[in-house]
Amino acid sequence: MKFIGVDLGGTNIKGGIVDGDEVLVKDEIKTGKEQGAEKVIDNIAEIIKRMLFQSGLRLSDIAAIGAGLPGMIDSLRGMVLYSNNLRWVKVDFVKSLQVRLGGPVPIFISNDANVAALGEAAFGAARAFPDSLLITLGTGVGGGVIIGGKIFEGNMGAGAELGHMVIKAGGCRCTCGRKGCFEAYSSATALIKQTKKAMLRDRNSQLWTICGGNVDNVSGKTAFDCYYSDETAKKVVDKYIGYLAEGLSNLANIFRPQAIILGGGISKQGQLLIDLLKEPFESGLFGTVLGPRVELKIAELKNDAGFLGACALARQRLGQ
Ligand SMILES: [Zn+2]
Repeated sequence: MKFIGVDLGGTNIKGGIVDGDEVLVKDEIKTGKEQGAEKVIDNIAEIIKRMLFQSGLRLSDIAAIGAGLPGMIDSLRGMVLYSNNLRWVKVDFVKSLQVRLGGPVPIFISNDANVAALGEAAFGAARAFPDSLLITLGTGVGGGVIIGGKIFEGNMGAGAELGHMVIKAGGCRCTCGRKGCFEAYSSATALIKQTKKAMLRDRNSQLWTICGGNVDNVSGKTAFDCYYSDETAKKVVDKYIGYLAEGLSNLANIFRPQAIILGGGISKQGQLLIDLLKEPFESGLFGTVLGPRVELKIAELKNDAGFLGACALARQRLGQ
């Protein structure tokens, strides 16, 4: 059976058609979010039609369509209740897309972070595990929870906001309004702030050299790049790893999944990140290493996690 998956991002819409484990075609188009919801849904219909054409298929060859959308999603009614990123309020997504496609194909939606977690669980790093979490360390800290191979959505898809668990009461202000959230300490944005702060305290740090003397050039990579060669950089990374391990151990203690998958910009550090996290993460586990193992792994699907997860969502909701 063939499924179409769509990943709606703030800048691009990515899509793919999958048959079993094989990706028949994938494509990308600009979101055009500034032109409003109707235009964005036009663009989604456009990429679907384009992919059908490229693969020589018709809509009637497709068993179902899945879509991962940013925001609070009512997956039962097929609606986006609220999306801060797209500035959408109560958009009747499934109905609008169905009208544009002009065919009776079932369409299923869920939150984009949940869908990416399902992508890693169905096709990527968490393939071997029934219970897994995906934590994306980017501008914010996103996440998805997979239990028994299925997305845990919470009421109206509003659950699994893993980045907004507090790891330091009364700590740094988070974008959500609370203080001390996991995201405020462990996102790439937070690491950039931590790196800049350390640089301003140590004018002789090598960190200055690699950013050409300008703190505006600091990225989520900068401190890791100097980890072995600069004491200040090492301190920044070690402290950051401490925060990250704190949050990951909390999540592991709540869900005790077989694996936690790390995605987003920071996950490009690969094995170094895993090696640094291992000790503080495992020492925070309930029962430490005496309990069942929780593997830390780097996400495998990168930018394809969203549309692949959306295909898996469509397959699952159809009961296949
Ligand atoms: Zn928060």
